[in-house]
Amino acid sequence: MGPMNIVGGHVALDLVNTVEPRVPGGTDGVDHLDTPDDLARWASRVAMLDGDEAERVRRAWADADGGASALAAALEIREAAYTVLLTQLGAVEDVGTALDVLVRHWRRAMGRSTLSLEPVEDTGDRLRVGVDPELLVPDRLAHATVTLLRTLDPRQLKACPLTEGGCGWLFLDRSRNGSRRWCSMEDCGARAKARRLTDRRRGARAARPASS
Ligand SMILES: [Zn+2]
Repeated sequence: MGPMNIVGGHVALDLVNTVEPRVPGGTDGVDHLDTPDDLARWASRVAMLDGDEAERVRRAWADADGGASALAAALEIREAAYTVLLTQLGAVEDVGTALDVLVRHWRRAMGRSTLSLEPVEDTGDRLRVGVDPELLVPDRLAHATVTLLRTLDPRQLKACPLTEGGCGWLFLDRSRNGSRRWCSMEDCGARAKARRLTDRRRGARAARPASS
């Protein structure tokens, strides 16, 4: 499988979209975050880590336990985020323990963060959040997820329509008239269009009277 599309418009949505297709309650989708390596590559791809950070994370995760526990935390955050976002979409009524899971990861992330001022060329000092490289990825994901949920305009949140052959991925529709339907027009949108065309042709053939 080639690299997955990044379409969510927010890193927390991109995290949710690492399962394909994304079906509420479904467990048979392809999981793109199968190993700590997958997670590190994905984090670089969505620009959550810069080159230096990616290298520090890679070294910290060279010990198998570090990578495995970071992956486990990231997946817990991912599934909790998905559940909460489904309630925003009205697809699920009860958040269950999802908020507790998020709060636990978020508190831990805040608790072990440090702040320092670092000089930036020409613009003066900038406040930088320091995190143990081993925990950098799950801690940033916890923070990003809470930030998204706090600031989300629910009218912008959409899911690529599963009932019409879409993939169920979540995205922010920032179009002015709220008309975005698909995760991407080149992917699910194009497939749906091709399917409609085939159906129409089939319909036309069926409607044609049989010639003798
Ligand atoms: Zn889709």
